[in-house]
Amino acid sequence: MTSPLRTGLIGAGIGPSLSPALHEREARELGLECRYERFDLDVLGLGPADVGGLLARTRDEGLAGVNVTHPVKQAVIAHLDELSADAAAIGAVNTVVFSGGRAVGHNTDWSGFRDGLRDGLPDAARTRVVLLGAGGAGAAVAHALLRLEVGTVAVLDTDAARARALAADLVARAGPGRAEGHPATAAAVVLAGADGLVHATPVGMAAHPGLPLPAELLRPDLWVADVVYRPLETELLRRARERGCRTLDGGRMAVGQAAEAFRLFTGLDPDPARMRRHLLELVGPGREGSRVA
Ligand code: NAD
Repeated sequence: MTSPLRTGLIGAGIGPSLSPALHEREARELGLECRYERFDLDVLGLGPADVGGLLARTRDEGLAGVNVTHPVKQAVIAHLDELSADAAAIGAVNTVVFSGGRAVGHNTDWSGFRDGLRDGLPDAARTRVVLLGAGGAGAAVAHALLRLEVGTVAVLDTDAARARALAADLVARAGPGRAEGHPATAAAVVLAGADGLVHATPVGMAAHPGLPLPAELLRPDLWVADVVYRPLETELLRRARERGCRTLDGGRMAVGQAAEAFRLFTGLDPDPARMRRHLLELVGPGREGSRVA
C-alpha cells in the first residue's frame, strides 16, 4: 500500500478552513490518496516569526507542499528558495511547493480570481473596474485585473494611502493610466463611469456584517464581484442582484486558488466545476442561488 501524498496549510485560526475537504475530495475523485493537514500557529503556540521553522518542518516531514495564509503570506517569502514572477509582483505567497529540496513560492489567489471571473462572467466589460480594498486580497485581484487587460483599475480604500500605494505599484508594473488610487469616500464619483466593481474588504463576512458602500451606487449595468465567500451570498451581492446587477460570488476565487494549488502539489488536473459543487455543499444548502454567476 502506498502512503498518501501529504500537503497542508500554515496560518493562524485555520480550524474552519475548507481547504482540507476540497483538496482531499478532489484527490479521491482522481484516484489519489491525499492528506491535507492544518499547521495552525494558534494551536501550536507559535507566532508569524516562526513560519520559517514550520516551513522547514513540513518539508522535512515529506510534504509535497503547503498553502500559506494570514498572517504569514508575506513573512514566508524570506524562507523560500525561489518565487514565481506573479508572486513576486504581488508580494505575497499562498502556495509553497517543495521540489528537489527547494521551496518554491507561488500565488494562486490572483489566478483563482482570474479563472473565476472568466468562468462566471466571461463577457464582463473591462474598460474600467473599481476595486474596493487594497489589502492582501485586493493586491491579488488587482494583478488578475491587469492580466485580464482591464483598461484602468481604480483602487479605493478607507486607508487612502494604501489605495494610492497599490495603484502606484500597479502603474509601475503595467504602465501609466492602468491604475488610480482614491479614498473610499470617492466611491460615488469613481463608480460613475465604471463597468465593474470588485469588493475585497472583510465587510460582509459573518464577523463583519453589512454593506461596504451605499447600495444606491449599484447601477443595473455594473457587474459586481465579491471575494468574501462565507457567507457565499453577501449583503453586497444580494443588494446588487436586487438592483439588477450581474454578480460573481467569492466562492469562485476560493475554488480557483484551491484548484491551482492542487495542480501545483499533485501534477494532476483538477476539475474546478466539481470542486465548486463541493464548495457549495460545504458552505450550506440553498446558498448558491440560481442568479449567482
Ligand atoms: P486585509 O486586512 O489585508 O485588507 C482589507 C483592506 O480593506 C484594508 O486595506 C482596509 O483598510 C480596507 N477596508 C476595510 N473596510 C473598508 C471599507 N468599508 N471600505 C473600503 N476599504 C475598507 O484583508 P484581506 O486579506 O485582503 O482580506 C479581505 C477579504 O478577502 C476577507 O474577507 C478574506 O476572507 C477575503 N479573501 C477571499 C479569498 C477567496 O479566495 N475568495 C482569498 C483571500 C481573501
